Amino acid sequence: MKFKEKIREIQDFPEKGIQFKDITTLLKDGKAFHAAINQLAQPFRHQDIDLVVGPEARGFVVGAPVAYALGVGFVPVRKSGKLPGETLSYRYTLEYGENVLEVHRDAVKPGQKVLIADDLLATGGTTRAVVQMVEQLGGEVVGLTFMIELLYLKGRQLLGHDNITSLLKYK
Ligand code: AMP
Repeated sequence: MKFKEKIREIQDFPEKGIQFKDITTLLKDGKAFHAAINQLAQPFRHQDIDLVVGPEARGFVVGAPVAYALGVGFVPVRKSGKLPGETLSYRYTLEYGENVLEVHRDAVKPGQKVLIADDLLATGGTTRAVVQMVEQLGGEVVGLTFMIELLYLKGRQLLGHDNITSLLKYK
């Protein structure tokens, strides 16, 4: 399956200089979506994983079906104020400004093995925040998986993890 052909590229969105990778064109193609999720899940089928954790919003679209394919649970990481239970909040800086992410404190138990999933690895800033949240709850991040990786932003180096996979790599 030629997945790259299914991704729509939009220049200067959401701001000038960014080439936005729009996965909605892949998601609406049932065969492509199914094949992409299966390929993302494949390397982790024989690894010891308890949970998939994915950040709002596109991390849900990728992470939840990967968790389903692996037969494990899914934990959402959300923007501030959305989760009803007791949460761990994590504040981190972005290129422009700050962001706050939250996760339920009882969502990850100490020692659980976690796979982090998202649509796209850019600078890795968001994913690094998610890694730190999982670790603060006592979880062990055993792998990270992305539909798209922008190699030139070197997110992989920032994360410094040895089990990172991505379906589509852009130089
Ligand atoms: P980052 O923290 O820089 O790795 O990027 C965080 C999130 O921003 C990713 O998970 C994407 O959802 C989104 N993002 C960043 N760059 C792009 C891009 N060029 N196209 C589409 N989404 C992007």
